Amino acid sequence: MFRIPSLDDVFNAVPPHYDDGRVQQQVLLSREFSQLFPETIYGGRQVLWWCPRCTTPWWQTDHRLFVLRLSPEQAAYIGHQLHAPMRQDGTFHELPMRVCPDCLGAVCVIDTYPGRLSSQVLWHTLPDTASTSSRPLPTNLGLVSTTERHASARDTLPQAFLFAMAEQTPREGALSLAQMGDAMLTWQTDLPGELDAVAWQLRWVERTLPPPRADECEPLGASHLARLAHLVEPAPGMGWQGFLWQPPETLSSALFTRHPLILLHAALLPQQEPTSIFHLYSLWQRLLPRVFEAAQWEEPRS
Ligand SMILES: [Zn+2]
Repeated sequence: MFRIPSLDDVFNAVPPHYDDGRVQQQVLLSREFSQLFPETIYGGRQVLWWCPRCTTPWWQTDHRLFVLRLSPEQAAYIGHQLHAPMRQDGTFHELPMRVCPDCLGAVCVIDTYPGRLSSQVLWHTLPDTASTSSRPLPTNLGLVSTTERHASARDTLPQAFLFAMAEQTPREGALSLAQMGDAMLTWQTDLPGELDAVAWQLRWVERTLPPPRADECEPLGASHLARLAHLVEPAPGMGWQGFLWQPPETLSSALFTRHPLILLHAALLPQQEPTSIFHLYSLWQRLLPRVFEAAQWEEPRS
C-alpha cells in the first residue's frame, strides 16, 4: 500500500535514500549555494564560483579542473545548466565566493567527509610561469583563455599541503592510527555543505589546537605516501612527508564531539630535508590564513 511516512518528508522534499552521505550532501549543497552540484565522472562536483579579485565567475568542473575568467556568455551558459539563479540580463543573483586559482596563485580545495565532523584541505601552489591555466582550454564553449598570473605571492610555503581532520566514530574504535590514515586518504570527500561549520573547525585548529606532542603522532607510512603522490605527483627531488596525530580528547570538547579526533598533516617537500610534525604544524598554521582568504571567510567580529 502507498504510504507517506510523514508530512515533513513531503514538504521538505527529502529525496529517497537520504541516509546516503552523498545524497545528504547534495541537499545541503543545493540549500547553501542555490545551484545544482552535479557529480562528475571522477567523483567531484561542478560548481560556479565568483572570484572577488578578478570579479569574474569561474567554473570548477571537478576536484581540480577549472575554467577561469568566464565571459558573460560562457557563465550564463554554465549557470543555466547548473540552475544558478540568474537575472534577465544574464548576470547572477548570488554565486558562492571563492578566490580563483589564478588570483590566489594556488588551487585550494576544501572538502569534508560527509556524515561526520571533518574537513580536508588540499593546497597546491601553482608554478610561477607557464601554468596550464594560461593556455587556452578547449571546451564545448569554444576556447577559454585566462590571463597571465602575476608570480608575486610565492613565498616559503610548500608546493602542496594536505590537511585532514576527522572524528573517529565508535564503529572505527578498533582502528589504529595508521588505519585511520588509510581511511582518511581513501574515503570519498565532498564539498562542504555547511561552509560555516568547516570555517569554525578550521578556526579551532588555528586558535585552539596547541602544537602536538611527539608521543601523540606517528609518521605516515608507505601506503599513505603513495596515495598522496597520486593526489599531487612530486617533481624530481621532492617527496610527500607527513604525520598522523591524535590530540588529547579534552581538546576536542570545544568542537562538541565526544569522539576522538584524528589529524593528518602532509606536505610536498625536498626529499633530502626530513621534516618533523612540529615543522608541518607551523607550516599549516602559516598556510591557514591563505585558506581563509581563498574561501573569503571573514574574521569573526568580537
Ligand atoms: Zn580571480
